[in-house]
Amino acid sequence: MVGRGSFTTEAGRLARALLLASALLLGAPGAAAFAQDDEELRLVKVTAQNAASIQQLESRFDVGYIGEPTEAAVYLTPSDEALLRAEGYQVGAVVEDNSTWEARKAEIAAADQAEALAQKLAEEGKAGKGAKNAVDVPGETVIMRAYTFTNYAGRFLYVEAHNKAQTTTTGPTLQMSYAGADGVYRPAVGFSQSGITPDGNDSTTQGNKLNDAGQYMYHRVLVALRGADANLAAGDITVRVAASTGSTDTAKVTEWAAKALPARVAAFQKDFITKYMNPSEAYERLDGLAAEFPGIAEIVHLPEKTNGYQRQAMAMMAGTTALGSNPNATNAPLAVQLFSKAMGHLGGNLISAEFKNPGANDAPLSVAVTGNDIVVNLATGPTGALTSTAAQVVAAITASPAASALVNAYTYGGNAGAGIVPAHAKAQLSDFLNGPAAIKGPFDQRVLRIGKQRDGTKTGVFIYCNQHAREWVTTITCVETAERLLRNYATDPTTKEYVDNLDIFILPSVNPDGGHYSFFDAAAQRRNLKNHCPITATTGGIGNRGSWGVDLNRNNNIGTLFDGYSGASSSCTSDTFAGPSETSEPEIRNEHWVVDTFPKIKFAINIHTHGGYFMWAPGAYISAGRVTLPSPNIGIEKYFFDVADEILSHIRSSRGTAILPQRTGPIADVLYSAAGNSADDQYYRKGIIAYSFEAGAQKLAVNATTGAISRTDVGFQPCFAGLGTGGGTGTCNTVQINEGHDSAMEFADGNYGLLQGALEYSKDVTPPSTTIEYSAAQTGSEPINFRFNWVKEPSVIYYTKDGSTPTVIDCDNPGTSSTRCYSNQGPRRPGEVLTISALGVHDVKWMSVDIKGNQEAVKTQRFLIAADQENGTANGTVPATLALSLGTPPAFGAFTPGIAKDYTAATTANVITTAGDATLSVADPSTTNTGKLVNGTFTLAQPIQAAASSLGGTGSALKPVGGSASPTSLLTYTGPKSNDAVTLSFKQTIGANEALRTGSYSKALTFTLSTTTP
Ligand SMILES: [Zn+2]
Repeated sequence: MVGRGSFTTEAGRLARALLLASALLLGAPGAAAFAQDDEELRLVKVTAQNAASIQQLESRFDVGYIGEPTEAAVYLTPSDEALLRAEGYQVGAVVEDNSTWEARKAEIAAADQAEALAQKLAEEGKAGKGAKNAVDVPGETVIMRAYTFTNYAGRFLYVEAHNKAQTTTTGPTLQMSYAGADGVYRPAVGFSQSGITPDGNDSTTQGNKLNDAGQYMYHRVLVALRGADANLAAGDITVRVAASTGSTDTAKVTEWAAKALPARVAAFQKDFITKYMNPSEAYERLDGLAAEFPGIAEIVHLPEKTNGYQRQAMAMMAGTTALGSNPNATNAPLAVQLFSKAMGHLGGNLISAEFKNPGANDAPLSVAVTGNDIVVNLATGPTGALTSTAAQVVAAITASPAASALVNAYTYGGNAGAGIVPAHAKAQLSDFLNGPAAIKGPFDQRVLRIGKQRDGTKTGVFIYCNQHAREWVTTITCVETAERLLRNYATDPTTKEYVDNLDIFILPSVNPDGGHYSFFDAAAQRRNLKNHCPITATTGGIGNRGSWGVDLNRNNNIGTLFDGYSGASSSCTSDTFAGPSETSEPEIRNEHWVVDTFPKIKFAINIHTHGGYFMWAPGAYISAGRVTLPSPNIGIEKYFFDVADEILSHIRSSRGTAILPQRTGPIADVLYSAAGNSADDQYYRKGIIAYSFEAGAQKLAVNATTGAISRTDVGFQPCFAGLGTGGGTGTCNTVQINEGHDSAMEFADGNYGLLQGALEYSKDVTPPSTTIEYSAAQTGSEPINFRFNWVKEPSVIYYTKDGSTPTVIDCDNPGTSSTRCYSNQGPRRPGEVLTISALGVHDVKWMSVDIKGNQEAVKTQRFLIAADQENGTANGTVPATLALSLGTPPAFGAFTPGIAKDYTAATTANVITTAGDATLSVADPSTTNTGKLVNGTFTLAQPIQAAASSLGGTGSALKPVGGSASPTSLLTYTGPKSNDAVTLSFKQTIGANEALRTGSYSKALTFTLSTTTP
């Protein structure tokens, strides 16, 4: 039945092929039989009537353990079991047998073997595997990133790889090896599978497998390049990662954070900071700069004042409980909390309260107020014992016009207040704030706006610091940046370019209230000072005042706690408290006002400490399924990395700190999910290239003998200067000496890198350029793989595969147009490899748009999957003027009954025509069930459909095959063609309820190549 044929007739030149289809019945495989070793020793559960019978077993058999008195696990052979059963024992379940032991041993051996195989593959590569083709379909193991970098501690190689076979707990062993210019692969290094914490705890390799929110992310490894290898240039190195499953990937290495920096005059001025500055000092310094440089700087006041570094004065009146503490369980029912109506510094701190025992029998409860002194005369009974409950005292104070003008009174934590209030000596209410009165009260936030032309026409950059109160290095980083820009303007051409061409907004402290609190009261304060805890809950109790406040970097309105995103808390005393609602805090509304009021702001940086992270969107995910906010398209991600390279190269120039590649990337991928953070707000709401810094990079050291990398955290308030000067913690280890100062200097350099990126953006008027890379332009029937490459700058690539012109679409919502955005293989992974497998001609069209909006002209690449070169001249027994030969008859494969489906098949043909025009058509010559496949007397319900396409002819869509009287036209030629490779496509629709008879359905069809102008 399967054959190939061609023949001619006088009427035309005909070729004929047979179409085949068949249906197969699947059988169920038989169950395998298992052999048993008769005298195998197994650990078996044995029970007996009494404990004595169980104990007696110990003298006869190897008893593994005794559980209940009448139960034991005993090693027995099957004959032993029979014997015991005969003696009246009950022999139950097998706990372990030989196969269990064998399985354990096999497990160990498999692990050893996997390690060895992965190691061998990493070092030697795969036998017979040639050079990697860039357009190979990605395999199981993909190297995501590979970098070398040099810092003050030495030279390093960092590799990130993804392996598709991983789960969070299982997966093949991965090993990494690298070769230098000599091509010799070094001893392989294992990616740790156990150190599943970011950056890993494996002291040998610092490698690890990163899991997050119950999902495998990727593997990463950081090794110190020592000895001669420390001199290897990135371009000399090839990295190979191998999995124990046999999959490998190789990649070239790029140098990290080593971009050439713009020129800087020798007399460049820096180092303007002499100490940590509290928010007021920082703001005042910027006020002074604006006054000093009125031509290029001004102060812009933000619309809302903060809640203020201030509190009501308060006192916990609860027996022996300290005035600022919460009562214990015994004192809770008798506690009365007093809060001044006026803020402490506005009179509240002058108020006193005394609960007095009148020293008389049957005295009534009364409240007397003299000036700021409140005296509560407690009630007594017939014996002179005090009888006023907390609830009664609260009511009496509230009812007294004079007292309630001064204070509000509450029981503790919504307590019913049934406890008898003891006498309390005169107590002074206090706001418990140590800072000077001058800084108390709502704070007037302002930005220093720097630019020669501050009219909203220049590209804007927003640099903001100290969102988190305790991160002291950030505030001075902002101040140092402002000083450098203004003081070098006249002498440093690069600085002048920034100031002349950009509109720079510097906000030195997003959180001045918390910042002041951190300086004067509690170093570890992170949030602002706003109390959102209800007085009716214990969280609102006076003793919790140090735990009040909103985490400003969780208070935005994109990807928030309120939207279901992870990494923020609804608890009003949590350090990541998101606030009672989105943008509930004036500090965040002010921050939004800046980016909303100055729409040219295209770059922003939110500076935090510590850890040395450099991050961007997405910064949050929904935990279930780890659904992140939409990841930027690979072209945008590349842009984030590109500007990051500028920034990180600037940082490294300061004192050799290389922000680690594994700490650079989307917040959610390299650190954690932070619901409602500011960078996400700016990126998703405003399209701003918004970064988040964690300044204060860990200090790295390399053990010269073992290569082990050790890290030391620098903390939130490292020593600003030399030993003994003290940071916020008052101590200074050797690693921290000058760290506060040096860290601020290097991140001020980083801000210059951001300005450089913004300047390049503002000047960019050149369209981006991209290329296509493919496995082949033309194949027989093999699929064609292709990918796109960026030539000089990142851009979003829009493409079509159907020959239509690509348009700019929303990559996250591509809609029904045939345009698609070129994407990555997954987060942090390389660009996807696209495949075309349908036979025929395919025009891939693409263009790209850079971050500035410059657009590349549409490009086209034509692919052909069709030409069966071997058959090109076969069967060519027809006159050379009009020749048709057919490829292998197409087969649809198995039809599955009961399922509605379209089955497709294809074959090739070759056409030679010297005629002025020609038409290729198909017909079913049969007069019974014309156009339909048949199986004996059974026939399919739907007719078969056919179409043809080629480079030389004009094809058509799928159409039902007609009879000899009305053949179906498939392809037309308007001139002669030689060896035009034709793809013939077929479709057969089967209905869900369509009855199918076992056997083959087929039909012989006639293909005709004819002409009207021979
Ligand atoms: Zn922070």
